[in-house]
Amino acid sequence: MAIRLVPSRRCIPLILLGMALAPVGSLAKPQYGYQGDVAPENWGKLSPEYAKCTDGAEQAPVNIVSDRTKRKANAPVLVPSYRPTSGDTVVNTGTTIQVNTEGRLLIGNAEYKLLQYHFHTPSEEAINGVHYAMNVHLVHQDAAGKLAVIGVNFVEGSPNSFISSLWKLLPSAKGQKVSASLPSLDGVLPKDLSYYTYAGSLTTPPCSEGVQFYILKTPETISPAQLAAFQKLYPMNARPLQPLNERVISTSD
Ligand SMILES: [Zn+2]
Repeated sequence: MAIRLVPSRRCIPLILLGMALAPVGSLAKPQYGYQGDVAPENWGKLSPEYAKCTDGAEQAPVNIVSDRTKRKANAPVLVPSYRPTSGDTVVNTGTTIQVNTEGRLLIGNAEYKLLQYHFHTPSEEAINGVHYAMNVHLVHQDAAGKLAVIGVNFVEGSPNSFISSLWKLLPSAKGQKVSASLPSLDGVLPKDLSYYTYAGSLTTPPCSEGVQFYILKTPETISPAQLAAFQKLYPMNARPLQPLNERVISTSD
């Protein structure tokens, strides 16, 4: 997942202090990547702010072993309200394609706003040890700041119509942004929204924890050409699997 968290109130004075003391030019966050010196195994060393990437106990992504999951009684139902959009921003971040957008999601009775979605290849989560060709992470936040991510995996097959609309607008240069009007994101969701859920983290630095993942069980399809178009920009942008440690993964059904 490629997002920046808004710093909590407690952290702001420290950050402001850091800015005041830091020499000009050192304010940018250290760039991370997937190969070489900035590869995932080195993220924790790139900045003290990225320490969770090394030290965290509830990191993402994880391998979901279906027969070790626990059925959740009265599992909350996911009810997305995604509409066709105007004024989205499609960003080539240097590590993925991210679309900053709007939308609503109910998880049971809890209300979340859609902030952005972005793509990984291969899929970050694995199910029973198997990675998919690509995944999208839809990043939502509630009024208290808690993040909830819906993950949809893609297998190669028929073209996905939402992806064909979005891929027409792909900004090819790192740092490039384009504005976009897009069809409803319902086009990347399977009909069956049953899921696996676990407590994890941002899958990119600073690897902050407290992110609840809802990984949909039913994959969607993309065509080989759609996959190739993304992989031309980013051949591999998935963090390796992280240890589950004490966590239990729940299943909605
Ligand atoms: Zn992601």
